[in-house]
Amino acid sequence: MSVRPILRGRLLLALTTALTTALTVAVVAPAAADPSGIGTLSTDYGPAAWAPASTSNYTVASRPGSHQVTRVVIHTAQGSYSGTVNWFQNPAAQASAHYTFRSSDGAVTQSVREKDIAWHAGNWTYNTQSIGIEHEGYVDNAAWLTDAMYRASAALTRNLANRYGIPKTRAHIIGHNEVPGATHTDPGPNWNWTYYMQLVNGITGVGSGTVSTSASTLNVRSGPGASYPVVGSVPDGATVAIYCQAVGSTVTGPYGTTSVWNRIGTNRYVSDAYLLTGHDGYIPNVPRC
Ligand SMILES: [Zn+2]
Repeated sequence: MSVRPILRGRLLLALTTALTTALTVAVVAPAAADPSGIGTLSTDYGPAAWAPASTSNYTVASRPGSHQVTRVVIHTAQGSYSGTVNWFQNPAAQASAHYTFRSSDGAVTQSVREKDIAWHAGNWTYNTQSIGIEHEGYVDNAAWLTDAMYRASAALTRNLANRYGIPKTRAHIIGHNEVPGATHTDPGPNWNWTYYMQLVNGITGVGSGTVSTSASTLNVRSGPGASYPVVGSVPDGATVAIYCQAVGSTVTGPYGTTSVWNRIGTNRYVSDAYLLTGHDGYIPNVPRC
């Protein structure tokens, strides 16, 4: 007897179970979480989940009426996504930010309403005038700074800038380290401001390239230059996504001599001299980084 009908039956059962589970979760989760508000959606920013901070950790206000919102302050959490969101719910924290992003996929949770004043900048005036955004990870470890998180965070900052009339410039979109009197160094030297500000300004395309190398594989490096460590390889003929393009060391390859390097994944770069992109150097609407 053929095993096919049995397999098909099992597959159908698995699918039905998965669907039922998903539907149950979708229906039950908001109700179960209702008392605290956890598990519900942000009313300020559609993509965000809402997990309210302890009322001990922020100041109630009615911005932008009570205080103009003129800046976005970028932070590195020095901790995990869930750890950060949970910490803001602990009355002992005496700290909060409006939003926190997850490294792996760019998911975002809001902890403090935008109308209220989060305690993140270490400077009261800056707190009153800003939205604070945390990013999962650690200042001294670039691995946390994924393309997914950069892009999701920049989409929020762009949305905030549009809603509050904040100029999309580095004078108004600043690091915690740039707040007057700051004792913190985040987001630190690994944070790529060029990439972030390009995304904030709406240059959000992802390019595509085909690897061409005389060898069987092309080295992937951790930064835009031949002196960066090799962190992997891509085979000849492979198609890669290009998240942003940077200036680095000059390389000569099948497509000429160039100092353009393509970021093909989180902290993964290959020289443009080995990629057929259909463009000579920079690709339109793909951000610089
Ligand atoms: Zn900070």
